[in-house]
Amino acid sequence: MTEDERTEAAIAFHQELALLKHRQGHATGQALAVCEACGNSIPPERQRAIPGVRLCVQCKEAEEIEGKRWAI
Ligand SMILES: [Zn+2]
Repeated sequence: MTEDERTEAAIAFHQELALLKHRQGHATGQALAVCEACGNSIPPERQRAIPGVRLCVQCKEAEEIEGKRWAI
């Protein structure tokens, strides 16, 4: 492994780590009382059930459908 390759590998590793931390931050963030997308209130039961929840049921479902569409 050359010095350049080692540096590139180190940069890639740190980017991966930063991305992972970013994702974890989202997953464990404070639950919102109001949907981020449509502004509807998110029921307290849902906030407790899903730590860091940001979307109401309708928007979450829409997002999942959207995600599946993009996956294809
Ligand atoms: Zn919503």
